[in-house]
Amino acid sequence: MIRFDAVSKNYPNGTTAVDELSLELAEGGITVLVGPSGCGKTTTLRMINRMVEPTAGTVSLRGRDIREVHAPELRRGIGYVIQHAGLFPHRTILDNIATVPLLLGWSRKKARARAAELLELVGLPSEMAKRYPNQLSGGQQQRVGVARALGADPPVLLMDEPFSAVDPIVRAELQAEFIRLQKELHKTIVFVTHDIDEAIKLGDNIAVFRTGGKLAQFDTPERLLAHPADDFVAGFVGQDRGIRRLSFVKAAEVPLRDGPVLPETSPVARARTVDEPWVLVVDEARRPLGWAAVAGLPDTGTLADAPLTPLGHTFSLEGDSARAALDAALLSPSRLAVGVDAQGAVVGVADAYELSAVMAAAEAVAAEAVAAEAAAGDAGADAPGGGER
Ligand code: ADP
Repeated sequence: MIRFDAVSKNYPNGTTAVDELSLELAEGGITVLVGPSGCGKTTTLRMINRMVEPTAGTVSLRGRDIREVHAPELRRGIGYVIQHAGLFPHRTILDNIATVPLLLGWSRKKARARAAELLELVGLPSEMAKRYPNQLSGGQQQRVGVARALGADPPVLLMDEPFSAVDPIVRAELQAEFIRLQKELHKTIVFVTHDIDEAIKLGDNIAVFRTGGKLAQFDTPERLLAHPADDFVAGFVGQDRGIRRLSFVKAAEVPLRDGPVLPETSPVARARTVDEPWVLVVDEARRPLGWAAVAGLPDTGTLADAPLTPLGHTFSLEGDSARAALDAALLSPSRLAVGVDAQGAVVGVADAYELSAVMAAAEAVAAEAVAAEAAAGDAGADAPGGGER
């Protein structure tokens, strides 16, 4: 869809912003460009809509060299979102969103109707339409920025640190909303960030750049975490990449055991026979109520009379990842993570050691995939298509 062939950008002052970049971005996916400040991410992004012209090499869009396309025409098919949203302060929210449709010559009425639709799409109430940008929070402005970029329904969206200027809570909301939106819209998105967590959360593919405008690795988030190409990438994805990788393992794959689970109607004497320091007390629907420390149990009565320590949190076998399971284990007073089904009923428990077995299994699967791909790559090495060089 978007292809860079040996693209470089050198500035007259001697700076190499991008160095011989070759990269192919898939249609309908999110590609994240990530790396430390000054490594050439923004320059790369801006070469896609010709805000920056390469010094060497070719950028093509759907097979066509973008130099052959008149820049304004090219940009009509490419939405652009930047940090702080970049809204026009003296235009209402609705008029901000209607900017591109109006530029395209749509009637005022049609452009505004489209803008109202987009306002709703990005999750903002219609009463915001008449406000001005400074009457909105940073997060709301950013949503308007996304709505404006979607004005003419462009197939491609370029986003340059769009969520970096808002606080972490709003940022997480915007990211979640963005993932939802993309599920609906299937745009081809190129997203620049310096934040590896954001890259891993949002990217279908991630291009890691190093200083000097060099591509260090281009891979899926899973592969990046499992097989960093070199020490630079390993350092950039962080010491905790093992834990991050658990985000890509489904909680449903976690091996669970029955564990010390007892209904609150059980006599306390029963809990003492379990031979575990903690028992998980559940209600009649097997929903967890809390942990009871066996050493702290009353002499008589049922578990309903026992003091309970809160669970921390459970993890869902339906939607959560193994990372949520590990977190649940670490926060649990018994060190056991409690897995629940869609109804919230306990399915079983696992401790951190048992969870590490999942990680080893994921490692083996990833290594197998890499080996299979390498074998396929060797087989295809003689294929034509290198082009002239
Ligand atoms: P990033 O987005 O990764 O922070 P940029 O693409 O903005 O990096 O910049 C890459 C390098 O190019 C940096 O060293 C930057 O200082 C340099 N650079 C960017 N624009 C210009 C320019 N107009 N003139 C000279 N150097 C520039």
